[in-house]
Amino acid sequence: MLFRPALLGIVLAGVLTVSPGPADPATKSTAVDRGLPAYGLYGVRWDPCHPITYRIVGRSPYAAGTRNLRRAFRTVAAATGMTFVYVGRRAADVTVRWSSPATTPDLRGPVAARTTTDIDQHDGVWENTAGLIRLDRTVGLRTGFAPTGPITWGQVYLHELGHLVGLDHVLEPSQVMYPVVLPTNHRYGSGDLRRLRMVGRAAGCVRNSQR
Ligand SMILES: [Zn+2]
Repeated sequence: MLFRPALLGIVLAGVLTVSPGPADPATKSTAVDRGLPAYGLYGVRWDPCHPITYRIVGRSPYAAGTRNLRRAFRTVAAATGMTFVYVGRRAADVTVRWSSPATTPDLRGPVAARTTTDIDQHDGVWENTAGLIRLDRTVGLRTGFAPTGPITWGQVYLHELGHLVGLDHVLEPSQVMYPVVLPTNHRYGSGDLRRLRMVGRAAGCVRNSQR
């Protein structure tokens, strides 16, 4: 996790590394983020009472990439009560971008994906106002979702979407929000789901007197 000052607030960055499973010998290292936090939430939410638009740009490394990403958004919507609206490639609140270390230096080294959000302070609260998920299309993961076995792109999507909605890393390797995707954390665990509820509709709307 990285805190970095920006002109319009603060950018929160989540970093995911991938760990090679038995059938993924060519994937990146097993390094994890420095300074693992244990609390599991950034403390910044989107307003769950308004739809959040998202787009997917760049060339997916496999044919069903967009369909799988949309499924991951639906999973997060179900767990949070939030509404996500896919708008193709048009302007959106959230951009998912397939990229590579050659064009995105932030994806060099043991990093498979990064999620950042722009946040704004108003009415005494912090609110997410935009999001960017960058995925390294050169990482050779199994496609789709799976309940067990070698790690998949689906896990990466669920992890990054967790960051997008305000979840931080946790220390339990059984949870998707552990900073390494493993054969043990294919699906959101009980802790993930509890934290997703905590940032979602059940926590109420984010009041904004300017809306
Ligand atoms: Zn992460």
